[in-house]
Amino acid sequence: QQRVFSGVQPTGNLHLGNYLGAIKRFAELQDSYDCIYCVVDMHAITQDMRVWGGPDELRRNIREVTAAYLAAGIDAERHIVFNQSQVAGHAELAWVFNCVARLGWLNRMTQFKEKAGKDRENASVGLYAYPTLMAADILLYRATHVPVGEDQKQHLELTRDIAQKFNNDFGPSIAAQGLGESYFPLPEPLIGGPAARVMSLRDGSKKMSKSDPSDLSRINLTDDADAIASKVRRAKTDSEPLPSEVEGLRPRPEAENLVGIYAALSGTTPAEVLQQFGAGQFSTFKGALVDLAVAKLGPIGAEMKRLVADPGHIDAVLQKGGERARVLADETMRQVKDIVGFVR
Ligand code: ATP
Ligand code: MG
Repeated sequence: QQRVFSGVQPTGNLHLGNYLGAIKRFAELQDSYDCIYCVVDMHAITQDMRVWGGPDELRRNIREVTAAYLAAGIDAERHIVFNQSQVAGHAELAWVFNCVARLGWLNRMTQFKEKAGKDRENASVGLYAYPTLMAADILLYRATHVPVGEDQKQHLELTRDIAQKFNNDFGPSIAAQGLGESYFPLPEPLIGGPAARVMSLRDGSKKMSKSDPSDLSRINLTDDADAIASKVRRAKTDSEPLPSEVEGLRPRPEAENLVGIYAALSGTTPAEVLQQFGAGQFSTFKGALVDLAVAKLGPIGAEMKRLVADPGHIDAVLQKGGERARVLADETMRQVKDIVGFVR
C-alpha cells in the first residue's frame, strides 16, 4: 500500500486553515493509505523563541496538536502518530540532505524569506535549512503522498528535487547494494479543494497563520461559539452582495475566502454555495457561516480540551507511535548509510 506522511508544527494557535488544508484531509486519507502523522517539534524551534514560546509552551503545544489529530478522527492504532524529535533519523537524514541540496535551491524558498523578514542576518540556520529537514521527514519513511496546504507546495517540489539528486548521485551505489535503480520515491503532493489556502480574516492577501499577531485574523480550533461568531462578523469584506457565479469572486479575495471556507466545511463547492447565497446580503451568508463553523468545529474543540486534560494518555500515544516510526526509520537509515558509504 502507498504511504502518506505529513506534519503540523506545534507553534500554538491551531486554526481553521490547518484543519481544512491539512488535518481534516489527514483523517480522510486513512482508508486509502498507510499514514504517518507527525507533530514536527524540531521544525517549531526554527523560529525565534518568542514565537514558539519556550519549553513549557512547546510541551503544551505538542500535546495540543496531538489532541487535534485525535479529535479530528485520526486513528493512532491503525496509523502512526508521533512527535518528530523522538526519532533520531529525521536529524540524521536531514544532514545527508543538507549535503545533497544546493544553496541556490534553498535561496529560492519563499517561506524563509517571509519568516526571516527584513532581519535576515538574525534568522536561525535551522529556519534556512527547514526544507531539507522537511524532505527528510517525508523520505525517511519513503512516503509516496503528502497532504499539505498550498503554502507547502514549493517545499514539496524541493523534496522531489532532493530525492532525485540523491538517486542520481548515488545511483551506482544504490544498485551495488541491491536496492534497485533508485532508492527514494518522488513524493506526490496532495493539495486541493476549496480550502487549500485559507486566507486571513483581516487581509485577503495573506494566508491564515498561527504566527499572525492578530487573533482576529484566524478562527482557532479551540474558539468557542461566541468567538467564532464575532470573528466571522468582523471579517473584512467589501460592501457588494455575493455574486451568483464563481467568476465574480475572482477580484474579491475576502469574499472568495469566506465562500471557500463554507464550501470546505459543508463538503460542497464554491459554485454550490453561490447557488444558495449568491445575490443575497453578505450578513445572511455570514450568519449561515457562523452556524456551520460552530457546528463543525465545536465538537472538535471540545474533544481537544478533553484530551489535553489527560496528558498521560497523549504522551503514551506519542511514545507508542515513536516506537513504531523508529522501526521504519532505522531500516531507511541503515540503507542510506550503506548507500552513502558510512561504515556502521
Ligand atoms: P506557522 O505560521 O507557524 O508556519 P502555519 O499556520 O503555517 O503556522 P504549519 O504547522 O506550518 O502551520 O502547517 C501545518 C499544515 O497546515 C501544513 O500542511 C500547511 O500547508 C497547512 N496550512 C497552514 N496554513 C494554512 C492555510 N491558511 N490554509 C490551508 N492550509 C494551511
Ligand atoms: Mg507554516
